[in-house]
Amino acid sequence: MSKNNKNDGTPNIPNDHPRAESLHYRHTLVDRMFEKVVTPSGLCAHGRGEAFDYLLGEQTIPPSEKAMEAAVAYLLLAKHPVFSINGNVAALVPESIVELAEVLEADLEINIFYQAPGRIEAITSILKKAGAKKILGLGDIPPTSLSNISSNRRIVDPRGIFSADVVLVPLEDGDRTEVLIENDKKVIAIDLNPLSRTAQKANITIVDNIIRCIPKMVKIARRMKNLESEKIKVIVNNFNQKKNLDDCLEYIINFLQNLMENPDSK
Ligand code: ATP
Ligand code: MG
Repeated sequence: MSKNNKNDGTPNIPNDHPRAESLHYRHTLVDRMFEKVVTPSGLCAHGRGEAFDYLLGEQTIPPSEKAMEAAVAYLLLAKHPVFSINGNVAALVPESIVELAEVLEADLEINIFYQAPGRIEAITSILKKAGAKKILGLGDIPPTSLSNISSNRRIVDPRGIFSADVVLVPLEDGDRTEVLIENDKKVIAIDLNPLSRTAQKANITIVDNIIRCIPKMVKIARRMKNLESEKIKVIVNNFNQKKNLDDCLEYIINFLQNLMENPDSK
């Protein structure tokens, strides 16, 4: 059966298409754009990510598995972990992000830059359908501001990111990552581009596609949840962000080198 079998002119994607999965997610994002969950610039951001995914062979690479473990360890030790949810995250991984928050006892805060009327409601609806019981950032209480930033990226929920010690930002802009760090938050980023400002500035960067990463983090979190806190602290202390980013770049260099030497392995 082919995916996206709609009668709106969108071409069907045959399952044997070499890029079937990627096209499926692309169409999902476009559909969610018409529902106001995703913005046009969210589509561009996804495209930028996809380009970097080619450089990883569209797979989770070993240094990123390590970064995921460290991220889960940080989140398990956090006093108040919060996940910052934007339109692309809600469109691509609604069930697994809700599940991860549940396993790690983290809050979900909808935090979006483009605040078109109806957008927060559309994202809320997706998260609720995915099982979210508590969602912050809905404007039901007056929002508050992070310091050192004037754009509306400063606006946060006082019960959420504002009072969080660890913030998970799957897909974030560099400006905002910098501001979260200046506001004394530990920032865990998921970003396919190891060279983005977000990837470079975060305390932990997982260089992976959120589509693969979040379900993997759920499994890791379930496995690590019952570890003694001393063991979890060792994982945190052994993680070196600079080395991790260097390992990701080295992986990409070796991957490309191998492609040049063995073009048939593509
Ligand atoms: P920065 O502002 O951090 O320098 P940027 O300006 O290059 O980054 P933005 O558009 O601000 O990019 O943010 C989008 C980021 O999200 C990009 O770095 C892109 O690689 C990443 N990205 C997009 N889709 C995915 C995805 N599915 N999984 C992981 N990362 C993704
Ligand atoms: Mg940016």
